[in-house]
Amino acid sequence: MKTGVNQLTTHHPTVAVIDLQAYRENIGRLKSLAKNSEFMAVIKTNAYGHGIVKMGMEAIQAGAQRLGVTSVEEGLLLRKNKITVPIHILSAVMPERAADIVAQNLTASISSKKLAAAISGEAVKQNRPAPVHLKINTGLHRFGIPPGEAVEFCAEVYDLPGLYWEGIYTHFSSADDGEWRKTEKEFNSFKETVSRLNKHGFYFPVQHVGGSTITIERPDMHLDMVRPGIALFGYPPDARQNDLIDLKPVMTLKTKVLLLKELPVNTPIGYGGSYVTPANEKIAIIPIGHGDGYQRTFSNNGEMLIRGQRVDIIGTISLDQTIVNVTHIPDVREGDEVIIIGRQKGDEIHAREVAGWANTIVDEVLASLLERIKRVYV
Ligand SMILES: *Cc1c(COP(=O)(O)O)cnc(C)c1O
Repeated sequence: MKTGVNQLTTHHPTVAVIDLQAYRENIGRLKSLAKNSEFMAVIKTNAYGHGIVKMGMEAIQAGAQRLGVTSVEEGLLLRKNKITVPIHILSAVMPERAADIVAQNLTASISSKKLAAAISGEAVKQNRPAPVHLKINTGLHRFGIPPGEAVEFCAEVYDLPGLYWEGIYTHFSSADDGEWRKTEKEFNSFKETVSRLNKHGFYFPVQHVGGSTITIERPDMHLDMVRPGIALFGYPPDARQNDLIDLKPVMTLKTKVLLLKELPVNTPIGYGGSYVTPANEKIAIIPIGHGDGYQRTFSNNGEMLIRGQRVDIIGTISLDQTIVNVTHIPDVREGDEVIIIGRQKGDEIHAREVAGWANTIVDEVLASLLERIKRVYV
């Protein structure tokens, strides 16, 4: 018998419907922009909320040669599900994870001597060479070796036994913002670093720098591999890219009207009574809340679609419920479909619009949606 959250949500009306055909087409379009480079599908953070295992398998079917994640756990989960392509851990990890990384043939990003030594030690112990990629920091200042220290770093770690230095990469700080001068500076710094390393005898066959934005806008920076993430799911990182590629949102987040109520004028609604009915109003209770990752900042500040019409979120969003104003929809019924993100009858609530309500980006809106929202693949 199933236990826990999944059992509880089996009959819950709130679901994220994942359109696999749209996903495959998005991958096809992105791939056709980078025909001469390898294609890594970045499916970190539960595939930006879409479900990592399914999206990993489908990405490979659609032609991705590699997968990118950010935690060892995600990598192990993919291996457990019989995915055999190279899986890259695109973040710093604790050296204690070296045993699992080597045993499951995950490709670590190296930016510390400790991790390099730990992986080398495990590779020798397990008698299994470990592919690694050197991470250079060109401006994001998250992790990675500063360009000026790269030669010295390699002098210490490159010849450690058991390591196969397959690649070298960086991740830009400001490409999504279209700051090309800064990005070109980072790119040049990366290229110079690679040449300098080559001169000292340190070689890295696979060089890569670009996520979705670079894949879409800068073919001159594709190098040996591209690494798009959010674009796979139908969202270019910035709206300016809509003209350059036709991508389709993969997720529709929907539910049903749980309950309808008529309230008289001057009725405070929800915790704290942050909304007070200015007239007699009809409200609908919608079964999604900030406990699902539907952010509390949407309180009195967002919309959904019912019967093709926009309805305002009123009052404070609670853990499991949101209230909307349906006064202007006379024929609304309990059980009606509610679109939270997606299309209904010619109107669309785009994840980018939702992100705007919270002054955030699409990535956060999607990746925030928790596991208890059932993913339905069609
Ligand atoms: C997240 C990430 C990507 C993908 O970025 P998108 O902007 O979502 O395409 C690529 N590379 C690295 C190193 C990342 O961390």
